Amino acid sequence: ENPPAPVPRSNVLAIPAYVPGKPPVARPGVTAYKLSSNENPFPPLPGVLAAATEAAGQMNRYPDMGASALYEALSARLDVPVDHLATATGSVGLLYQLVAAFCEPGDEVVHAWRSFEAYPIAVTAGGAVGVPVPLTVDARHDLDAMAAAIGERTRVVVVCTPNNPTGPAVAQAELDAFLARVPSHVLVVVDEAYVEFVRSPDPVDGVATALAHPNVVVTRTFSKAYGLAGFRVGYAVAQPPLAAALRAVSLPFGVSTVAQAAAVASLAATDALLERVDTVVARRDRVLAGLRERGWDVPDAQGNFVWLPITDPEHLGAFVASAEEAALVVRPFVGDGVRISIGEEEACDRLLALPGPTGAPIG
Ligand code: PMP
Repeated sequence: ENPPAPVPRSNVLAIPAYVPGKPPVARPGVTAYKLSSNENPFPPLPGVLAAATEAAGQMNRYPDMGASALYEALSARLDVPVDHLATATGSVGLLYQLVAAFCEPGDEVVHAWRSFEAYPIAVTAGGAVGVPVPLTVDARHDLDAMAAAIGERTRVVVVCTPNNPTGPAVAQAELDAFLARVPSHVLVVVDEAYVEFVRSPDPVDGVATALAHPNVVVTRTFSKAYGLAGFRVGYAVAQPPLAAALRAVSLPFGVSTVAQAAAVASLAATDALLERVDTVVARRDRVLAGLRERGWDVPDAQGNFVWLPITDPEHLGAFVASAEEAALVVRPFVGDGVRISIGEEEACDRLLALPGPTGAPIG
């Protein structure tokens, strides 16, 4: 007979697994491309690497816990006072902090589905309950249904724009109409992980929205447009009481010294980095048009990725296999479709050379 072992809280056992993008499998003579994690295909700029390398000389010390240089640089760049900011270990770190700071056990978090797969994980890990609201047929947030899903126990609503993995962005007018329907005690999180890639009309201005609404937090990241996914730096903008609550529950020393230095250097190089974003956006638009020409039913793409809605698991499997054959690693979501990140030019060419939709109708 074994003595009883410690048992995790019941919500821990209920946490869905995070399935990260697979690494590419090397094949002799063929460059493989990883298009499965919405990463930036460009490596860090030399000046960013130099700043991180110099900071690495201090890695025997703990980081600046207040991340003061990073707060100052963000404050200057966004033109908001530092007391409106919270930095974190990636914007996923902010999701955990939002649940920890605003949800009692059993409180509800309304979010679209399918959306970013870390939402149900962070919500469940924090002891809250996710309320997934299906997307519309054109893969957009159904903001009417999300407003209707707000109940007695709802403490947080997450709006992901552009939506990962499907691509469409919410318009500012739609967000404003939605906010007018949300009770003032409910926190609205606007996840703008891909904001720099948005080119749709009437784009959401998350920072201005957070400044105008005492119940709005906007979350952003250095992982996508700034190309620092491995460094793990995210930030939130909100009015001071909300920002203070997020800072209060943060992991002490969660943003490393090298990460702080890389983020500060990247903010100084914003112009060069946004040029790279323009390059990715041009590739995205080329891929979107090309896939549609081939007969794929691709929703609007406002992030650094495109979405093929392939609901039939067999067709999905066949598509993923044909991509693998071309040494492209893509991200399948069984039952819903496949997400493909916009990477190198050659990766885009190869993607457009894959077979188009066949067999039963897709979508
Ligand atoms: N939000 C969305 C919508 C995302 O797609 C991602 C990354 N896949 C994140 C947040 C998290 O990014 P990070 O933790 O790297 O900042």
